[in-house]
Amino acid sequence: MKTAIVTGGSRGIGYGIAEELAANNWNLAICARQESSDAAENLIKKFPGVTVRYYKCDVSSAADRENLLASVIRDFGSFEALVNNAGVAPLVRADLLEMTEESFDRVMNINLKGPFFLSQSAAKIFAERKTGVIVNIGSCSATVASISRGEYCISKAGIGMMTKLFAVKMAEFGVNVYEIRPGVISSDMTSTVKAKYDKLIAEGLTLQPRWGEPSDIGKAVAMLLRGDLAYSTGTVIDIGGGMEIARL
Ligand code: NDP
Repeated sequence: MKTAIVTGGSRGIGYGIAEELAANNWNLAICARQESSDAAENLIKKFPGVTVRYYKCDVSSAADRENLLASVIRDFGSFEALVNNAGVAPLVRADLLEMTEESFDRVMNINLKGPFFLSQSAAKIFAERKTGVIVNIGSCSATVASISRGEYCISKAGIGMMTKLFAVKMAEFGVNVYEIRPGVISSDMTSTVKAKYDKLIAEGLTLQPRWGEPSDIGKAVAMLLRGDLAYSTGTVIDIGGGMEIARL
């Protein structure tokens, strides 16, 4: 059985991805910043055939990233897929003219620098083995400007270029790289703005009139890891109920 690393797999979209991958018989290495998590135990209960391990890892820390990969290789022997899902919103939704340098650095370090250097380390391993797949969880915010969380938008726009760069670099090794751009997905991250998006969805923000669920993203990741889009790389997949279509 193959092993996938899912960053931020303890809850929200990452947990939804982990569930769909477990259903597709992937062993899983999930990580987040908390010391421990019951996510692995819950997944094993639901999918007894798979091995799931939880690792404490802050993706913005070089030492943590190094530990994570070493631990996964020690415990699983190897890994065949990396899903860069972990990400954060700004702690404060500050207007573009008030955004602090501290918030900019925090969001960029977790949402862009961490995934970049984790991908770089994984890519070296994949290049040697001539196998592997990388999926980046970007966001509709890569193209939609929100002036109350500019640092988040910039980090996700960066994920867009990161996907292209790794797709180009890794093609000769047979490693495909994809990006999924979720729209509005129900999770802890969006729980603070639930009323706002309930209203926007009711008013037609999405063509499909509902919130997205973590499983909507999980199913897309599972499709990519199965190799269903084998003849494509660098591809961006919007999972947003049609909200990405600009309308007049
Ligand atoms: P949640 O806040 O619900 O979950 C985030 C997950 O990432 C948790 O497991 C969290 O665990 C982990 N995490 C956060 N920071 C780090 C870190 N520095 N290192 C390792 N793990 C970390 O968010 P979502 O599930 O909603 O978001 C997942 C991804 O999807 C993010 O990249 C987000 O930007 C993206 N996205 C979400 C959308 C939405 O509508 N929800 C829309 C578009 C994109 P812990 O706190 O314990 O570290």
